[in-house]
Amino acid sequence: ADLIKITMPDGTEKEVEQNTKPIEIAESISPSLAKKSVVAKIDDHFVGMNEGIRFSGKFRLVTKGEDEALKVLRHSTTHLLAQALRRLHPKIHFGVGVAIANGFYYDTDDSDESEKQVAADEFPKIEAEMKKLVQANIPIQHQIVSRKEALKIFAEDPYKIALINDFPADQEITIVKQGDYTDLDRGGLVPSTGWIKHFALTSVAGAYWRGMSDNQMMQRIYGLSEWNPENLEAQKKALEERKERDHRTIGKQMELFFTNPEIGAGLPVWLPNGAAIRRTIEDYLVEKERQNGYMNVYTPVVSNLDLYKRSGHWDHYRDDMFPAMTADDGEQLELRPMNCPSHIEIFEHEPRSYRDLPYRIAEFGQMHRWEKSGALTGLSRVREMTLNDGHTVVAPEQVEPEFKGILQLIRDVYHDFGFTDQDYRFRLSYRDPKNTKKYYDDDAMWEHAQAALKRAMDDMGLDYFEAEGEAAFYGPKLDIQFKTALGNEETMSTIQLDFLLPERFDMKYTGEDGKDHRPVLIHRGVVGTMERFVAFLIEKYKGQFPTWLAPVQAVVIPVNYGAHGDYARNIYSKLMKDGRRIKLDNRDEKLGYLIRDAQVNLKTPYILVVGDQELRDNSVTVRFRGSDQTKEMKIDEFEEMINDDVANYSKG
Ligand code: ATP
Ligand code: ZN
Repeated sequence: ADLIKITMPDGTEKEVEQNTKPIEIAESISPSLAKKSVVAKIDDHFVGMNEGIRFSGKFRLVTKGEDEALKVLRHSTTHLLAQALRRLHPKIHFGVGVAIANGFYYDTDDSDESEKQVAADEFPKIEAEMKKLVQANIPIQHQIVSRKEALKIFAEDPYKIALINDFPADQEITIVKQGDYTDLDRGGLVPSTGWIKHFALTSVAGAYWRGMSDNQMMQRIYGLSEWNPENLEAQKKALEERKERDHRTIGKQMELFFTNPEIGAGLPVWLPNGAAIRRTIEDYLVEKERQNGYMNVYTPVVSNLDLYKRSGHWDHYRDDMFPAMTADDGEQLELRPMNCPSHIEIFEHEPRSYRDLPYRIAEFGQMHRWEKSGALTGLSRVREMTLNDGHTVVAPEQVEPEFKGILQLIRDVYHDFGFTDQDYRFRLSYRDPKNTKKYYDDDAMWEHAQAALKRAMDDMGLDYFEAEGEAAFYGPKLDIQFKTALGNEETMSTIQLDFLLPERFDMKYTGEDGKDHRPVLIHRGVVGTMERFVAFLIEKYKGQFPTWLAPVQAVVIPVNYGAHGDYARNIYSKLMKDGRRIKLDNRDEKLGYLIRDAQVNLKTPYILVVGDQELRDNSVTVRFRGSDQTKEMKIDEFEEMINDDVANYSKG
């Protein structure tokens, strides 16, 4: 037989017969290694433990305990799920199955069989079927097929056919056979179904085929899969925790916001409780900005389309913009996707000199973006949003000090919200030089701007990572990336250096020399959009907002409305006049019920119960959030405490 040469991880080379199985090599090294090896790799190609090695290359065994092995297990579980589903729903079609950060999913479509798609109430039955297949320990074997064969094998599977048709002409097509079930697969699966033992199906959600809303809606079935029962339990718990933190769940419970189809997808309505949080943040930020030399402005949310043609948005950002509207006189109007052009117009409204710089303006700017319907989520991805936006116009030599000043402002704000530098990392976002549709085409400008940004960060001695293709179309940015409570990473704050829009709008200022000069524009968002920021905070605090942000800072409950109602109302009025957000709960319900409602649903920091004794002592009995203890306090004493709490931005 032919010989091939494999290079072991320690660098030694081995000549083996072609089609030697990785399991044979593993066993020749040690039986314990063989037992824990999940799959092998030749260079970047997976080879199943019982499959033949076809060509020479670097050899490696992927063993249990490695992240990659867990991915292999989870991916294998998608096939196990599919095989079980095919038995229960013979006409079901499959899209793509993948391993994800905590588990796996497989997209399914059973609409050929019946109107009823797979639903969560069927999970126990599906899991039982999966367990039978595990018991049977069915071998999993890959096979190379021609394109023609592949099209024949999957003739009844429209989604697989679409995938095959999209493969590049020279791509080798591999299928995998697992008993009576066949799927497309590139490799990277466990040797047999018996390896998959600790799994659970967790949820099902609609997902468009290929993520595009014009396509068929499929059912995405999510699950967990682990090597041992302890890890499965841990993953189940983590999932529960994520569900509990989900801002959409808490938003309902605390009555913060809602969306409904009557108003429109991605257009949230802020209820009084949510609006109270948002307004507190806005007031706080406006004051911070004022202290940092920003002037607050208001500009229209729709503008003449020509403004966005001039800025370049129409050429480079149109996919994210609402279509234009035509007025009776033919004027074309556009809902703005960004506020920059309006702010530039403010700078341009008067002649400016070097004495006016840095010129800082800020606005809670409402914007609209043409987000895909499938991507809309709660408050975190919406179609109408309000950005804590700001623009500074500077002379070129002021870029660095201004950049530092903005970063300092951002960090001061983080401090007040209780974020630490463990919570975020800096990303320098550059253009993708190949993508000339998205990015303005001017190499020299990009080189210059990216270098200036990097220099500023280096001079400040800050750690960062770099990402291509994340820049705005008009320039590079510093993005501050937060890990969310649900485990995703998203941009919170951003500072962007822009040498392009000043050119496009012919911005200028008179220098000390009396001549015209071109300024630099710095865009910044301190906390991003109100929508995404509040979603983030809900998840971070699990709804238990620190007192300064809590929608209701204290609930006053009379023990008996007839006897203590007036007294309760007096306390409510006094605290409210002094600036606190107070709710008087005089519903005709049992005291225990009202207390629980304030604790569990509203998650309010303080509950003040007043009865005979409190009335006599001119006091309140305070229940503190997260504690079973109560304390009787004089009203003044309580007021001093809650005011301190608010003034210190105390943690949630
Ligand atoms: P993304 O990549 O999340 O679409 P972006 O890079 O386009 O965002 P920017 O143009 O930098 O975002 O927008 C500024 C801020 O607006 C960022 O804080 C971003 O998180 C937020 N944001 C962007 N799109 C949305 C949206 N659809 N819903 C809520 N907030 C958004
Ligand atoms: Zn801007």
